Amino acid sequence: MNENASSILTISLDAIAANYRLLAARAQPAVTAAAIKADAYGLGVAEVSRTLWAEGCRDFFVATIDEGIELRGLLGQARIAVLNGLIAGEPALFREHDLIPVLNDLGQIDDWRADCRNNGPAAAVLHLDTGMARLGLPPAELDALADDHSRLNGIDLALIISHLSRAGEPDETMSHRQRDDFAAALARLPWAPASLAASSGIFLGPDYLFDMVRPGVCLHGINPRPGQPNPLRAVVRLQAKILQIRDVDTPQTVGYGATHRFAGPGRVATLAAGYADGYPRSLSGCGTAHMGATAVPVLGRVSMDLIAVDVTRVPEARPGDMVDLIGPHHDIDALAEEAGTVGYEILTSLGRRYKRHYLGGDGEVA
Ligand SMILES: *Cc1c(COP(=O)(O)O)cnc(C)c1O
Repeated sequence: MNENASSILTISLDAIAANYRLLAARAQPAVTAAAIKADAYGLGVAEVSRTLWAEGCRDFFVATIDEGIELRGLLGQARIAVLNGLIAGEPALFREHDLIPVLNDLGQIDDWRADCRNNGPAAAVLHLDTGMARLGLPPAELDALADDHSRLNGIDLALIISHLSRAGEPDETMSHRQRDDFAAALARLPWAPASLAASSGIFLGPDYLFDMVRPGVCLHGINPRPGQPNPLRAVVRLQAKILQIRDVDTPQTVGYGATHRFAGPGRVATLAAGYADGYPRSLSGCGTAHMGATAVPVLGRVSMDLIAVDVTRVPEARPGDMVDLIGPHHDIDALAEEAGTVGYEILTSLGRRYKRHYLGGDGEVA
């Protein structure tokens, strides 16, 4: 598919493998699982999951049951937990595909327990909310469960998790509070392995590691501690082809809305990518692409399929040349900051029109 595409998304499976090894070494003796929801953050769940399996990863977290079923088809032996939880009526589907539900409230605990009573004990993950107000048992439900452990009877409690809300931020007050609340909650429940840290949490110190860590975004090279040096390897390179170059001698406007007036003399190159490919429209007039080490600024509005850049400083640029939108001189974190968003959103927005090129892993998968 997309063999003739003019934009190339290169994904280094070797870098993902190296990042997994770095995180696993840092987290040990805790086990390093992987969060690969949303098609492995947009990079391809088949390629990414096989790469992680080859590195020894055995525990995976996905968001939806459909993602779980897809992953089960790829990795027959993995332990796969579904974060969005057990929705009434689904226990049979979890069992059929050997998926582990994350139990997010007392009702889901009761449903899984009933299913275990009828069909035999099966593994579940218990999720406690310590400060996200998103998924997981709220404090009052934790109290009820702590007062009556019998509600878990028959359930094979494989793991107890919680999720940090501000792990990547310099102010660690909230993270400390959540960690202490999580530890206190564990002491009130039947013993089970515990997991608190996702990517950034791994870097908060040993008392955040518990028995398992669940990195996602860091596997793909995003900096776990914005503002500090990034210990991880870049995974993604995104290149767009120059379709046309216009010599501008007299002042002229560029793109929709005529928002940019190019004074000239100079050269404007039109690239084969746009917001439909996940290049944020918010980079209109402020994004930075690169040719080699030379920055080529985005001119005017990002269109659906096209971007205009100023290549005046690259006189050798020709139609057919490739321009880095994400690359060695401008990583995803830099692009995300320019666009006023986070690396997660850039990754998961990467479009479907690129020619995808996977480097490494089990040989080169094109
Ligand atoms: C997405 C998610 C993760 C992984 O988070 P990253 O910040 O990408 O490492 C871990 N745990 C839960 C509950 C999640 O929703």
